[in-house]
Amino acid sequence: MYYRCYICHKPPRGFCWLDPNRFQSSENRRASFKRFCSKTCQDIHYQLHRKGVDVNRTDLEQKAAESVLAPLADYVMAVGMEKGLGSYSKDEIIGLVDTVLESYHCTLQELYKDEVPF
Ligand SMILES: [Zn+2]
Repeated sequence: MYYRCYICHKPPRGFCWLDPNRFQSSENRRASFKRFCSKTCQDIHYQLHRKGVDVNRTDLEQKAAESVLAPLADYVMAVGMEKGLGSYSKDEIIGLVDTVLESYHCTLQELYKDEVPF
């Protein structure tokens, strides 16, 4: 079982989904169980499932990873280009990680929204 948000990979926060079709095997039904970080991601999954859209997660994840580059560059420039990563303070490293994760998650949510017209 996957213990991350099925859409954006953030930690789940109590939003779930289970295929309501009771005429399938219990194994398939159990496999349909998904966890989500928010109502937004839950809705995205519901709309995709309703439309029968099978999204290639690898392509979207790759796009989300590439989208991190610009915010990461902005952050590094704000800290100082002459400063090496080994010289970063703990707070600067945490800021860097937050910048990357926030950009990745937000972009992934936006990409999935593009797949669903709602
Ligand atoms: Zn999510």
